[in-house]
Amino acid sequence: MSSLCTTSVPHCYLCGSQGTPLYTDLVDHLFGVEGNWQLKICENPECQLVWLDPMPTLEDLPKAYQNYYTHQIVNALPSKTILRTVDFFAYRKFNKLLLKLTGMQKQRMQKNFFFLKEYTPGRLLDIGCGAGHLLNRIRQLGWEVEGIDFDESAVKQAQNLYNLKAYTGDLKDIVYPSDNFDVITLKHVIEHIPDPAELLKECYRILKTGGRLIMTTPNIQSWGHQRFQQYWRGLEPPRHLFLYNCSTLAAVTKKAAFEKVHTQTTAASSEYTFARSMDTQRKCTGKTLNQLKFFSKTWLWEYYENWLLRRRPTLGEEIVLVAQK
Ligand SMILES: [Zn+2]
Repeated sequence: MSSLCTTSVPHCYLCGSQGTPLYTDLVDHLFGVEGNWQLKICENPECQLVWLDPMPTLEDLPKAYQNYYTHQIVNALPSKTILRTVDFFAYRKFNKLLLKLTGMQKQRMQKNFFFLKEYTPGRLLDIGCGAGHLLNRIRQLGWEVEGIDFDESAVKQAQNLYNLKAYTGDLKDIVYPSDNFDVITLKHVIEHIPDPAELLKECYRILKTGGRLIMTTPNIQSWGHQRFQQYWRGLEPPRHLFLYNCSTLAAVTKKAAFEKVHTQTTAASSEYTFARSMDTQRKCTGKTLNQLKFFSKTWLWEYYENWLLRRRPTLGEEIVLVAQK
């Protein structure tokens, strides 16, 4: 039994079809929220949206975030720990060259600045800004930025660390004027939202005509999900309420009145996803792997997925969606 109150969600948010179980007995390996969780996939082959059923109620959803990483201080993420066991300096030098030769460095740079380098700077809102690391980088490109996040301690960090204009709360609580922003960004936010079309409709209202919405989210159709199945990092129950592929993410964006919608996938940070997925797999199966093998596998898989994307462009670990008002 879960410690959170939940509500049953038998039908698809997008097309109303029944859902069929994709995974049962999922556990929160990341932040220890109690309960066994189930993901369902829409039975309509044209749709294939994936969602959590049952979902935490709106009232209890904040309890799923009590130990969440936006509460932690900067550099508290565990992703570099593996690298300390190898010759980090030699690795970095070699990998830098390889990243350049394979074009992956360019992709990482694009992702670091949230695909904004090609646009003329203007007014930008980041929804789910956390401690403001991304917003601070975007400001360095010349954008006039502000952010919102439901997490009060993360917002305080954004204000204190980077002197950013950041607010605590939901977008609907702030009530921005219409036609106010040139760009709205949502980095790994949409999968956490119980009513995504409602949020995106409000984004549409406050964007200027010609303004852009840019989102990233885990890709349920990715090679990593196919490889790791129920251990895949992108599932993250019970915080990820919906899991999208390119077409379901485009559909939810179109439901919110956006017409010009473009999606692509990227493997720019797939190494992180593979490492965390393998951690979970090891925890669940008891299989051990020495640190060097562990690191080599995740590193090689990132290059493999990048190579794979040339032939099968929908298999990257993350979806990047750009929609224009
Ligand atoms: Zn559906």
